[in-house]
Amino acid sequence: MITVGLDIGSTAAKGVLVNCSNKCRTKIYYEIMPTGWSPRTTGEELLKRILASSHCSSKDIDKIAATGYGRETIPFTHKTITEITCHARGASYLAAGSSMVIDVGGQDSKIIKIDEKGRVLDFIMNDKCAAGTGRFLEVTSAALGLDVSDLGNFADFKNFAPINSMCTVFAETEVIGLLAKGVPKESIVAGLLNSVCTRIAGMACKFSRPSKVAFTGGVALNKGIQKALQQKLDTQIVIPQYAQFAGALGAALIISELRV
Ligand code: ADP
Repeated sequence: MITVGLDIGSTAAKGVLVNCSNKCRTKIYYEIMPTGWSPRTTGEELLKRILASSHCSSKDIDKIAATGYGRETIPFTHKTITEITCHARGASYLAAGSSMVIDVGGQDSKIIKIDEKGRVLDFIMNDKCAAGTGRFLEVTSAALGLDVSDLGNFADFKNFAPINSMCTVFAETEVIGLLAKGVPKESIVAGLLNSVCTRIAGMACKFSRPSKVAFTGGVALNKGIQKALQQKLDTQIVIPQYAQFAGALGAALIISELRV
């Protein structure tokens, strides 16, 4: 059985091909590209790329599932599956034994309680504002002349400047004001990372304390966020190598078990 999961996110489109035709060895291929302005064209391109990297042809694929905010725009899928269901399943595969998934993407953040098979028990999602998401960090780090991928090496957590605004627009203004007062960039970065993690931890503490957390989504790759979240949550946090692909992987795994 060969299946493909496409996660057409607000910022990045992720594709995963799961080849379990060899019973002894499951092979998984990962591809990512910016979602851009046309999720449909991106979905087509992503499928081409994942076929090329896995040396498969479209005839080899048994089933395709799509998830993510752009999932309904992809015409060639067998099924669309909600993000929460897919992230839960994919994260559980990547970080087995987790009882909670914290997924922070470009424009939303989700906390999902899962069982041992990666099934959803409960969840909270913030998709109404950019606070506590990748977008918040992108906008505020741009005001500091930094790229989000630099934030991890730059933070001075010992002297962090508190950022009071949760709203992205106001936080950007606050950052500009702090710079004007001569506050070091390192302290402001630590304040921003702390602000995002306060928001995430506030959502997570609505559930009972997990023994192990899978931290997924593109923002999980941010070393600064990893450090700040570890300070806020007193539990084991696992960041899988393919953290950003949890949704696409979950879609590919779920569709392999469905009769469609
Ligand atoms: P979506 O599914 O909403 O498109 P993703 O889970 O793909 O979201 O994550 C996209 C976010 O991850 C963006 O805000 C981007 O800035 C952030 N991101 C991706 N890679 C990194 C990295 N190496 N360091 C910091 N942030 C990153």
